[in-house]
Amino acid sequence: MFPAKFEYYAPTTVNQAVALLKKHRDAKVLAGGHSLLPTMKLRLAQPPVLVDIGKVKGLAGIKVAKGGATIGALTTHATIAASKDLRKQCPAITEAAALIGDMQVRNRGTIGGSLSHADPAADYPAVMIALGAEMKAVGPKGARTINASHFFKSLMTTALKPSEVLTEVRLPPHQPNSGCAYVKFPNPASRFAVAGVCAWIALDAKGRCAKASIGITGACATATRASKTEAALRGKELNEETIAAAAAQAADGLDCLSDIHASAEYRAHLVTVLTARAIQQAVARAK
Ligand SMILES: Cc1cc2nc3c(=O)[nH]c(=O)nc-3n(C[C@H](O)[C@H](O)[C@H](O)COP(=O)(O)OP(=O)(O)OC[C@H]3O[C@@H](n4cnc5c(N)ncnc54)[C@H](O)[C@@H]3O)c2cc1C
Repeated sequence: MFPAKFEYYAPTTVNQAVALLKKHRDAKVLAGGHSLLPTMKLRLAQPPVLVDIGKVKGLAGIKVAKGGATIGALTTHATIAASKDLRKQCPAITEAAALIGDMQVRNRGTIGGSLSHADPAADYPAVMIALGAEMKAVGPKGARTINASHFFKSLMTTALKPSEVLTEVRLPPHQPNSGCAYVKFPNPASRFAVAGVCAWIALDAKGRCAKASIGITGACATATRASKTEAALRGKELNEETIAAAAAQAADGLDCLSDIHASAEYRAHLVTVLTARAIQQAVARAK
């Protein structure tokens, strides 16, 4: 299992990385290498040039402030899982990070790498959609911000352009009377999500659902939103019955995947069960 030959560059600034990506067509960014290197060793990908961003300063780290949280693209899953500040403001993302793969994967893999790779079974995409996260990308024409709703395009395809580097993820500030949670059904071998659901719920002064945002991963070719469930929750008093009725619609209209791990029917069922659990946890936290 040896990869095909490639040229290797290790820039020290984002601008250098972008310039290398612009110069070398079909070059690939290398972050933690936990998704890219296996595909290269299996010769599923043969990039002629790797641009290793591991030496670029300022791309790793977490800042949590009143205006929201910022997570650098090179921040590892282990660092995110261990962040007490992040857990206080947004427990769904630390939960998702803690459930990724095993210790080795969490110590090397990065949030930027995971989001850019857009594996259909990756955990973070559901969280990004539910929380309304924004991705900052830097390319030859400068920086731009992409909302999570427009970031995940299709199977392993994002809105990033070939010469853009994802530099950070921004999470909106915590809103009073809101709560979020991420739950998943992991593949017993890899821990990738057979299905995973993130729910973000805001309550009004009477304790009813003011707003619901629900992201789903693992079930389809790309992460998606449970729009029908969100609409069914809005304005409702949230108890076991209303949550179950809304969650039962979570897989409506989804084109669920069928593979050796699970049938489309089983994934659709998992989505409804996990959606109910995620909503219940999010509501408990909002209260
Ligand atoms: C055994 C195993 C189990 C795993 N289990 C899980 C799991 O349970 N849940 C889960 O979500 N993931 C899981 N993963 C995937 C893991 O989280 C990877 O770390 C992650 O998907 C990729 O991150 P990376 O930093 O390793 O990126 P890399 O492998 O270096 O890169 C991945 C892709 O993203 C691109 N890229 C990387 N960084 C950037 C950037 N900043 N800007 C633009 N493009 C970029 C690369 O060019 C490449 O195409 C698992 C992986 C393994 C090997």
